[in-house]
Amino acid sequence: MSGGLVLADISAGYGAVQVLHGINLNVEDGSITAVVGANGAGKTTLLRTITGQVRPTAGTIRLGNGADLSRVPVEDMVRHGVALVPEGRGVITELTVEENLRLGGLWRQDRKAATAVLADMYDLFEPLARRRKAAGHQLSGGERQMLALGRALMAAPSLLLLDEPSLGLAPKVTAQILGMLRRLRDDTGLTVLLIEQNVRSALAVADHGVVLNLGRVVASRPAAELAGDTDLRHTYLGF
Ligand code: ATP
Repeated sequence: MSGGLVLADISAGYGAVQVLHGINLNVEDGSITAVVGANGAGKTTLLRTITGQVRPTAGTIRLGNGADLSRVPVEDMVRHGVALVPEGRGVITELTVEENLRLGGLWRQDRKAATAVLADMYDLFEPLARRRKAAGHQLSGGERQMLALGRALMAAPSLLLLDEPSLGLAPKVTAQILGMLRRLRDDTGLTVLLIEQNVRSALAVADHGVVLNLGRVVASRPAAELAGDTDLRHTYLGF
């Protein structure tokens, strides 16, 4: 399944308040794209629109296979190969690591396949393998983020959406988590769309960078090129 995503002329908002104004975005299959921008630029609204929590007032959202995502109910996203790691991570703190992971694979009919993927998750996230019986609330911030990522991956998505994965994490842990995204891209061809306030870290890991400002795309370029553009950084990203 292709993980590519194409947004064409997307406008969206909340009631009378229009937040996104004609967004065009092309997430290439097998790449990592980072969307960055100041507070209030519309990053979270963009992600909510892609996941169907906010319905666009104009434009189209298509997956690489041509499916129109704006017509897919939120609960069916996973069947279309789309998984979200929400801000705040969405780990169920009363459940154990293993129970959280199994929840991520629940929709799969094939229990054997789900168990195999569980083993893959423990290979990928070694700290989780050591803590499989620990409850979510006993985990460190980094472990929780790994668990949220692992849970989303249990659904074997082709497109992974992440909302602020670095939030509240120490720089070293952020680098570790973002490094895992690269490994997943390289090893499995996963397509990743990442929303981040931590611009430096996001552009360091991404192939492509998109800068949002006041609900409009003001730059869309290779991430390394964006990171090296001092004027653009000063104007829109504050560093
Ligand atoms: P942040 O990183 O601070 O969350 P952001 O780039 O993700 O910023 P959004 O959260 O998408 O930006 O917010 C964009 C604009 O939409 C802001 O002006 C915000 O006040 C407005 N907004 C966000 N959520 C709502 C809502 N539920 N109702 C009305 N307006 C909202």
